[in-house]
Amino acid sequence: MRKWIVAGNWKMHNTIAESVALARTVKEGTAGLKSGEVVVAPPFTALTSVGEALKGSSVALAAQNMYCEDKGAYTGEVSPLMLKDVGCTYVIIGHSERRKYFIESDETVNLKAKKALATGLKPIVCVGETDGERNKGVTEAVVGRQVRGALADIDKLDNVVIAYEPVWAIGTGMVATPAQAEDVHDFIRRLLVEIYGCMAADVRILYGGSVTKDNIAELIAMEDIDGALVGGASLKADGFLGIISKMP
Ligand code: PEP
Repeated sequence: MRKWIVAGNWKMHNTIAESVALARTVKEGTAGLKSGEVVVAPPFTALTSVGEALKGSSVALAAQNMYCEDKGAYTGEVSPLMLKDVGCTYVIIGHSERRKYFIESDETVNLKAKKALATGLKPIVCVGETDGERNKGVTEAVVGRQVRGALADIDKLDNVVIAYEPVWAIGTGMVATPAQAEDVHDFIRRLLVEIYGCMAADVRILYGGSVTKDNIAELIAMEDIDGALVGGASLKADGFLGIISKMP
């Protein structure tokens, strides 16, 4: 039985004070949670304060990105050791916005995923096709390439989480239908089974893209959807807690 995850990606939003206030409300709202995992990914500047605010709760702290070296002359980058130091247990890797605006490739995603695992961080590896790719009928080719690329030379999946996030659904309000999402989740699962055998059955595959408290129930009912990576709807406590309240 895979344990669901609801992860909030706050992107480049919220001051430290706003982040702490949101984290406190999420902490209070999840206090009695019996199943699943809740994760929040504030901006780097708020990680320390949010980590402090979440102490005593089961809400896990994530970073939205990391560099693939422990330390060195990499101006502007943040290392996985630094993320561990502030209490992160998860790190989002290869989000489509990083791929688009910061030209991250399957190779850099792979370097980061390997480094995260070696450091004891759990990577949430994002994959997903653009609308143009979907219209051309190459969704599986693109997602397959991204999954294989991200996981190259990784031989254990224990701490790996995959997030299928169709680019056309991110921040657009155009959520994938449960059937569209499940088709790709099932494809990813079959691909993982092909590469890794039976350990693939335990890998959590999250859906991301315009998830709200009004559409999550249908998505989470799908066989291979194990939770959600949530952007916009994670910025308001009632929206985020509303999603969590619909989890099984
Ligand atoms: C995301 O950025 O990962 C995301 C899924 O955003 P949104 O929920 O706003 O579509």
